[in-house]
Amino acid sequence: SFAFRRIKLFQEVEKFSLVDGLTGAFRRRVLDERLAEEVVRAQTFKTTFCLMLLDIDKFKNLNDTYGHQFGDEVLRRVGEILRGSVYETDFVARYGGEEFAILLPRAEPAGVLRKAEALRKAIESAAFDLAMQRVKVTISLGIAHYPRDGQTADAIVRQADRALYHAKDTGRNRAVDVAEIPRKA
Ligand code: GH3
Ligand code: MG
Ligand code: MG
Repeated sequence: SFAFRRIKLFQEVEKFSLVDGLTGAFRRRVLDERLAEEVVRAQTFKTTFCLMLLDIDKFKNLNDTYGHQFGDEVLRRVGEILRGSVYETDFVARYGGEEFAILLPRAEPAGVLRKAEALRKAIESAAFDLAMQRVKVTISLGIAHYPRDGQTADAIVRQADRALYHAKDTGRNRAVDVAEIPRKA
């Protein structure tokens, strides 16, 4: 039938799309390509870039309590808020299930930390409503900078992830720059 063909066509377009259909963010493989390019660019022109990894707090709980459909709606809105909150030159990707990544070219640490805090607040204060209930949604963020924290794309991802893990570990709903994690004695 026509409807069926239309669905099939949609799925095929999705498969080749650079953008994730639910969140409007770029796909992970597109981010990987962009990251590799950015390393080359930063090396060549002696510039910097920043990678932010962010993850919705206790998202499994949210799915379990309010349903997967509501979870999807939260993901859609989070993607929308992120995309609407960054510069044209910044690159928002869906990194995994409920994880996003933002690549910020030529960004300096203090500015990025302010930006991360603004994103955190934007999500925290956004209204996620289900029937008569207002559901609270928060995110944790981890930040790493090239070349300060690593010389390869992989190293930068690992450091941003380490910062994200630290944000989770120290209470969630916070942004952590990997440089501010205290060294173990
Ligand atoms: P934490 O604060 O430590 O991040 O806890 P969490 O519950 O968010 O972390 P966890 O990784 O345990 O759970 C992530 C959940 O995200 C599990 C999975 O079911 C859900 N999820 C992943 N992708 C999707 C999706 O596309 N839609 C919905 N509704 N849920 C998703
Ligand atoms: Mg996760
Ligand atoms: Mg999570």
